[in-house]
Amino acid sequence: MTKGKMEKLKPCPFCKGEADYDNCETGYEWIECTNCGAKTQHLKINSYDKLVKAWNSRPTEEKLITALKQLDQMLVDRHKFRPDAPVRKFIKQTIKEIENETN
Ligand SMILES: [Zn+2]
Repeated sequence: MTKGKMEKLKPCPFCKGEADYDNCETGYEWIECTNCGAKTQHLKINSYDKLVKAWNSRPTEEKLITALKQLDQMLVDRHKFRPDAPVRKFIKQTIKEIENETN
């Protein structure tokens, strides 16, 4: 598999290191951090899409972003906060920071 064909892997969730695909002669493949060695489970060859999905998923961050967006919506719906309210700017900035860190 050439690198060009590979779907973009997110940086390591633990150390922000670069992730890479690897496999071995016994017919297993996995994705591993080139810096700290964190890795996905080893799966039978031809599981690449599944491995990428596992490596790239960031469930905690996704939950956090969803909660922040709900909070922002509550501020608008229930309390009529305007877009330039400091608390809404803070929420937007925090969401942006989380997204930058996980992409
Ligand atoms: Zn790492």
